[in-house]
Amino acid sequence: MENEQFKHTELTFQLMVDSVPNAIILVNKEGKIAYVNNQAEILFGYKRFDLIGRKVEQLLPNRYRKNHPEFREIFFLNPTVRNMGVGRELFALRKDDTEFLVEIGLNPIVTVDGTLVLASIIDITERKKAEERFKLVVDSAPNAMILVNDKGEIALVNNEVKTLFGYQEKELVGQHLHILIPSRFQSKHKGFIELFFMHPQKRSMGVGRELFALRKDGTEIPVEIGLNPIETIDGLMVLASIIDITERKKQEASYKKQVELESKNKELENFAYLASHDLQEPLRTLSNYIQILKDENIDQLNTIGKKSLNRMLVAINRMNGLISVLLDFSRLGRNRTLAYKNCKDIIEEAIADLTSLITKNDAEVIIEDEMPTLNVYEIEMRQLFENLVNNSIKFKQKGKKPMIKIKAKDLTDRWMFSIIDNGIGIEEKNYDRIFQIFQRLHKRTQYSGYGIGLSNCKRIVELHKGEIWIESEVGKGSTFNFTIANQL
Ligand code: ADP
Repeated sequence: MENEQFKHTELTFQLMVDSVPNAIILVNKEGKIAYVNNQAEILFGYKRFDLIGRKVEQLLPNRYRKNHPEFREIFFLNPTVRNMGVGRELFALRKDDTEFLVEIGLNPIVTVDGTLVLASIIDITERKKAEERFKLVVDSAPNAMILVNDKGEIALVNNEVKTLFGYQEKELVGQHLHILIPSRFQSKHKGFIELFFMHPQKRSMGVGRELFALRKDGTEIPVEIGLNPIETIDGLMVLASIIDITERKKQEASYKKQVELESKNKELENFAYLASHDLQEPLRTLSNYIQILKDENIDQLNTIGKKSLNRMLVAINRMNGLISVLLDFSRLGRNRTLAYKNCKDIIEEAIADLTSLITKNDAEVIIEDEMPTLNVYEIEMRQLFENLVNNSIKFKQKGKKPMIKIKAKDLTDRWMFSIIDNGIGIEEKNYDRIFQIFQRLHKRTQYSGYGIGLSNCKRIVELHKGEIWIESEVGKGSTFNFTIANQL
């Protein structure tokens, strides 16, 4: 009766094992196969009775057979439920000698014949292939991509991540995501991960906030991050796609600066225009009355009176001049038109306009042979070169022949021009001042001028999305450099 009962239990057990969708093999302490289920027959290509009583090592590729009994013994010393070969790739061998990748769960079972191990075997070839395909797709993505689990641990990174963050793959996988997040955001980030896994859906991260990532070298980069929930064998994960937006930010900032500058310039233009225009009228009246005073009453005035009247006329003249240059300044570029011109032609035209000044001062202007052809505001560009060459001659050293060289250099997205002179030079403390409106470094009696030439130059350069600056040494000469953008 007891035997009957046992037989019955054994049968139930066999039925159960057979109906499991995984391949199952029962092995005893000596490594002999005690039972295999249907799935195992299919998986390994053997008939059940070809296997029962045989050593389990028969199902392993040759290279693993030697060490396997030792692993088996270790298991039977402390038989617990566990996965086999964690961290290693496990291979199994079919009857037809082909190998395949497996995952094996081990369960100790106590029977009348002693303790057996129930090995549940899953063929993971397809999963591995899918994983590899996934990795391949992720790796070939143009963005940096990181797969993160619900604990915030990095499971996978693609090539771009290595480039962007400066880490090797092994330095990241298994680490907490915090390694890539600046410390001031870390405490909040934990909550964000939890929130994402509570409502996993495809979305952008941190909409409305600025996101920063931390590189291995400690520098931060502004980033944009897209989140994608992904169901994996290890549970739900999030695939974060990261874009470095440093360049975009820079462009945005420079665009903002440009817009601000343009609006400031517009404001100044309008102000200068109105002021100069409105100033002209009272000045004209003043000038008329002084003229009348001079014409009709000159004989009644004493020497002081006559001198004062003349001084007034000189001052009015000067003020007229100032207003007129201010008007020019405010109108500068108003009707500008773009033209594709060779800069050598523009410079030669500018120099032609200065012929008499050049001859009078016995100056020499050398233009470098190679000059670019650029899209420029032609009239303004000519004025720019004219102003700078004019200054180079005007501020020459006494007794020295003015020598001026004009050079151009390709800086990829812009060209840099240099006007080099051997004139009096400028002290460093005045480098910025000279570009401001009406700022001059000398008395009118020394050098004529209104202090507007370089302000005009600066505005023209800015119209061409460039910058202007000076390098100089007093007594040696000055170099005025400016840039002109390739694309306006
Ligand atoms: P200005 O009409 O007085 O020449 P600018 O705006 O052209 O006005 O120049 C401002 C000041 O910068 C000048 O007064 C002069 O002191 C100085 N400067 C300009 N160009 C040169 C140069 N090539 N060499 C030395 N000083 C210069």
